[in-house]
Amino acid sequence: MKTEVTLKVKSKFVNKYKSGYPLISKEAIFNLNEAAEEGTIIRLVDEKKNFIAKGYFGKQNKGYGWVLSRNENEQIDQRFFSNKMKDAFKYREPFFNSADTNAFRIVNGEGDGLGGLTIDYFAGYYLINWYNIGIYNFRDYIINALKELDDFKGIYQKKRFDANGKYIEDDDFVIGERGTFPLIVKENGVNFAVYLNESAMVGVFLDQRDVRKRIRDAYADGKNVLNTFSYTGAFSVFAALGGAKTTSVDLANRSLSKTIEQFRLNNLDIESQDIIVEDVFHYFKYAVKHQLSFDMVILDPPSFARSKKIVFSAEKDYKNLLKEAIAITKDQGIIVASTNSSAFNMNKFKSFIDQAFKETNRKYQLVEEFSLPKDFKSIKEFPEGNYLKVVFIKNLPKD
Ligand code: SAH
Repeated sequence: MKTEVTLKVKSKFVNKYKSGYPLISKEAIFNLNEAAEEGTIIRLVDEKKNFIAKGYFGKQNKGYGWVLSRNENEQIDQRFFSNKMKDAFKYREPFFNSADTNAFRIVNGEGDGLGGLTIDYFAGYYLINWYNIGIYNFRDYIINALKELDDFKGIYQKKRFDANGKYIEDDDFVIGERGTFPLIVKENGVNFAVYLNESAMVGVFLDQRDVRKRIRDAYADGKNVLNTFSYTGAFSVFAALGGAKTTSVDLANRSLSKTIEQFRLNNLDIESQDIIVEDVFHYFKYAVKHQLSFDMVILDPPSFARSKKIVFSAEKDYKNLLKEAIAITKDQGIIVASTNSSAFNMNKFKSFIDQAFKETNRKYQLVEEFSLPKDFKSIKEFPEGNYLKVVFIKNLPKD
């Protein structure tokens, strides 16, 4: 039995929690005891001590825990986690039944009523990301809940709860049988090499699945595509399979071998694709100097990155990144602008786009947009959780 504390919500915030806001924040609570033990059950009450919700204490970024239930009588026990997990699996049934995709998310934190963790499925293996120690303290319940459901081969985990929310280097294997890596997974018929026991990033970002498919199916054929911040080249592989000639640019040395590996796994000819290990901001200058231009430029930077000379922050620098891209995109060409920053919403993102085109004296048309795919379930009460913003923009001349 976990210990329980009662926390009083400031009146200004009571309605917010009553209507389903899941993140327990310091500013909303009168008597937040920062020294409370991680995993302690929290009862949120109003100033008259009326029950609002139940959750757990777990420090994560600016939050202090997550709401788990709005039912005063519900116990946070094995059955609670088993039921949540069952619902989460049910919601992903079409993915489990898919013949051409076997890599997807099965628990998306607060979107599935379990703030603080995510679980991804990779061809028979589960990968759990723990984002705070509080939820990690419930790990037996969570792993038991997984055992009660489908058969699986093994479970891996990432502990993401050091002081800065960073990945803690560890043997990530938990139970079952160890995988042999690379594990080959399929996404819409395309192969990806995945490494569950290497670092925080396993080789593919599942949240871009719909965007990759769209590029392959509707944009790529016969086009010259520049993929910046390309990592393992997932966008490039889909574009090349759709008939594009691709150039992938990433600063990390590993990106070269990792991208070659992904191309080979899909029987693509590496000789006809360019893979460049370089700072993208240098590459933009090189491209301008050599008068290169592209039919499609994909921008998918990290929210924050520090390279030797440059500090990039999506919130501050996305507009300038767009201006660099516009300069090397053909008339009628497409810029795919993507960000996973939760520091700003879609409207703000569109204002960066608008400014960038105005300042370069170009016109543009928003062609289509994407947010998180269906398996990355989010809830309207927590719009911050729906972090992904992707916009396809057509580059038009002024007149
Ligand atoms: N677009 C990728 C994911 C990008 S992850 C995909 O779809 O899979 C972010 C990547 O940006 C990392 O691989 C990192 O090495 C790279 N990166 C960060 N700063 C960079 C810079 N200044 N120039 C080039 N690459 C950079």
